[in-house]
Amino acid sequence: MPINTHDLQRMFSLIADEIAKKRDWLCELDGVIGDGDHGLAMEGGWHAAATALALLDGDHTPPTAAFNAAAKAFLNAIGASSGPLYATAFMRAGAAVKGKEELSDDDFLAAFCALSQGIQDRGKAEIGEKTMVDAWKPAAEAALQARANGEALASCLDAAVRAARDGCEATKGMVATKGRSSRLGDRSLGHVDPGAASAVIVIEAISSFAGS
Ligand code: ADP
Ligand code: MG
Repeated sequence: MPINTHDLQRMFSLIADEIAKKRDWLCELDGVIGDGDHGLAMEGGWHAAATALALLDGDHTPPTAAFNAAAKAFLNAIGASSGPLYATAFMRAGAAVKGKEELSDDDFLAAFCALSQGIQDRGKAEIGEKTMVDAWKPAAEAALQARANGEALASCLDAAVRAARDGCEATKGMVATKGRSSRLGDRSLGHVDPGAASAVIVIEAISSFAGS
């Protein structure tokens, strides 16, 4: 079944709900190695993006415009560094599906991978620097690998979830060298990166959306 803007409206609202449930936990994680606002930032950003999408006419708005609306709303809603990272990600996802009225499974995966790449390009973080890239990049790679092996979209996204969880867990053993927690130096060791933790929640929600 192709994915249209109505589906993206549902997906963003699902992600916003899941992030909102974990808001306090994400703030606690950020309180340990950052400034304690990550849950609030993500809740605000995803809520704003979901609300902006809900206002669109799903019948007459192409997916690329939906992603662009999400980018603008996310960026305007929050001042934390995750704002421009996700805003760039959504714009890249939109660019990846430009001109499409609805998305095939391959189009959707292309948007998913463009989103991940957008975060990396905007923040210039590599794997191992204890950021959300440690969850997003392996997730995108696992999804593409599963697709290359002939898997259906739902199972590609299952693979993405597993890779994101592993990547997030691995951030415990990393010293932050990007973003606010890099100021802590070795003291960031032993703690999960909040941006990687929220990425897992987002990717889990995308996966349950695609599996439904
Ligand atoms: P802030 O650090 O401005 O308070 P948030 O608390 O919303 O912003 O987000 C912190 C998260 O942002 C970190 O846990 C990390 O995952 C992510 N992050 C910070 N800098 C970068 C970067 N350069 N590239 C990718 N992710 C980053
Ligand atoms: Mg913070």
